[in-house]
Amino acid sequence: MIDKNDKLDITIVGAGVIGCAVAYELGRCGAAVRVLESRDVGLGATQASAGVLAPYIEAHHPGPLRALGLRSLDMYDAFVADVVADSGKVVPYERTGTLEVATDDASLTRLEQTRQGLASAGVACRMLSQTEARVAEPHLGESVRGALLLPSQGFVGAAALTAALRRAGARHGVSFLTSHAASRLSVADGEIEIETAQGTVTSDAVVLAAGSWTGRVAVAGGAPLPVRPVRGQLLRLLWPGTRLARVIWSSLCYVVPWHDGSVLVGATVEEVGFDEGATVAGVTSLLDGVGNLLPATRDAGFDEVRVGLRPGTPDDLPIVGWSSAVPHLVYATGHYRNGVLLAPLTARLVADLVLDGRIDPLLEAVAPGRFDAS
Ligand SMILES: Cc1cc2nc3c(=O)[nH]c(=O)nc-3n(C[C@H](O)[C@H](O)[C@H](O)COP(=O)(O)OP(=O)(O)OC[C@H]3O[C@@H](n4cnc5c(N)ncnc54)[C@H](O)[C@@H]3O)c2cc1C
Repeated sequence: MIDKNDKLDITIVGAGVIGCAVAYELGRCGAAVRVLESRDVGLGATQASAGVLAPYIEAHHPGPLRALGLRSLDMYDAFVADVVADSGKVVPYERTGTLEVATDDASLTRLEQTRQGLASAGVACRMLSQTEARVAEPHLGESVRGALLLPSQGFVGAAALTAALRRAGARHGVSFLTSHAASRLSVADGEIEIETAQGTVTSDAVVLAAGSWTGRVAVAGGAPLPVRPVRGQLLRLLWPGTRLARVIWSSLCYVVPWHDGSVLVGATVEEVGFDEGATVAGVTSLLDGVGNLLPATRDAGFDEVRVGLRPGTPDDLPIVGWSSAVPHLVYATGHYRNGVLLAPLTARLVADLVLDGRIDPLLEAVAPGRFDAS
């Protein structure tokens, strides 16, 4: 926590879903917030995100990632309601559940084990036979062997949420400076300086939320964090039949049904560096996967392919908290496959930490010190 009688002046680097959520939270708590974004708001990994909110699928076993995801999912109803009220914008958001589908014996066994673990923890869930799964989702193909229904999970429109966070943040005085890339951070005279091509900005604190590009912002006195880009390609198709009732997930791909009749089909996972291009191989693998899972997709219209770079970390956990090497610097990065799910919680944890010095026990597992301790 920074001791200061006046309003705290905080600069956030990066306007993806994480930077925008943190800016909104700090702004509505009374801080003076500016966001520096090298391109425009939401054009990093966030624009490609499917927006699935599924902590039980992303973390099949109890552990820090599941604990973070569940806390954040619990916050989602109130978070979306607040952002909608403050922005006046519509944010598509549904908690209609997920159907995780098994297409072979091994995945069926794994899903049954997951169900047992969840049921013994008191989580509402149900295993469906092949017939029950195809009654629940008549479009499922014959390769389906069974499915795990988890009613509490859902999805949100990531781009709409980010645009609404920007508007809601602005209502609380947050300023967004687009085409402003931060190149270097350094501490001087009890403040932190941020160098940009347009000049140097000084703040009481910086929140570095530059996603995959975090390690490219030079930090005087600190080593670059090991955040790496993991490319994901995702398709938007125009669904030809009656709307799917919920998110469908399988080892081949996942499918998110929207009210406008489109579906998102995701996603590839590729270690190809900072390449944000789509490929024939990526698109083909997704079309093959979804054609097998939901044969009706073969009649779907092809709308677009989206590509984003997920910010991956060596232990697949985000990096959130004060830098252990550089004063005045907070990290909110490395959210890999779960940045949209974890946005409300990340924003809350950062605001509590910076404004009130409150250290939530969840911060221990995601502390920057596991990578930037000198
Ligand atoms: C295909 C795909 C599907 C996904 N599906 C889901 C999902 O279903 N659910 C889920 O929760 N998550 C999902 N994710 C992951 C999620 O999208 C990311 O975890 C999340 O978007 C990360 O947000 P971020 O704000 O940290 O990064 P980004 O959205 O990448 O934002 C970082 C921002 O920082 C800016 N920036 C970079 N360098 C600088 C600099 N030097 N100065 C100023 N600005 C800078 C960038 O331009 C960018 O706008 C998916 C990702 C992909 C690619």
